[in-house]
Amino acid sequence: MPQECIFCKIIKGEIPSRMIHESEVAIAFLDIHPATRGHTLVVPREHFKDMEKAPRTVINQLLATISNVVSIIKEKLPCKALNVLINQGKPAGQVIDHFHVHVIPRHENDGLSFPRSTTSISEKELDEIHVKLTQ
Ligand code: 5GP
Ligand code: ZN
Repeated sequence: MPQECIFCKIIKGEIPSRMIHESEVAIAFLDIHPATRGHTLVVPREHFKDMEKAPRTVINQLLATISNVVSIIKEKLPCKALNVLINQGKPAGQVIDHFHVHVIPRHENDGLSFPRSTTSISEKELDEIHVKLTQ
């Protein structure tokens, strides 16, 4: 693992964190700059740059850990909705190069939004992409 990786340091206990859950493959702690109250990061114990580098067994177990975190947040906080989000690569907003998943509690009118339908696309282009992804 890269020596400077903040999340590896948190996992090793070299940097403090507000941990809310841990499993065999991952730990979950509060994001230091939360999008909303309760914003949690689920981070594999092993250093992988991104999801593509993580073995399928880790991905599968990570989903169970995320599900536990969702249950904890929904039980303990006023929270009816959540986003579960991965920033994969720099253009997608990945800043920390240690694979992690955001669990973000959502509320009516909380000011957060994800871009939807910012690109207009023709039926032809949709067909072309469909072909590329399925052939
Ligand atoms: P990314 O943009 O890479 O998907 O998200 C990285 C997240 O890590 C950001 O939301 C940021 O606030 C959080 N973060 C960065 N450094 C620290 C830290 O030292 N401690 C904690 N708890 N979160 C951090
Ligand atoms: Zn790391």
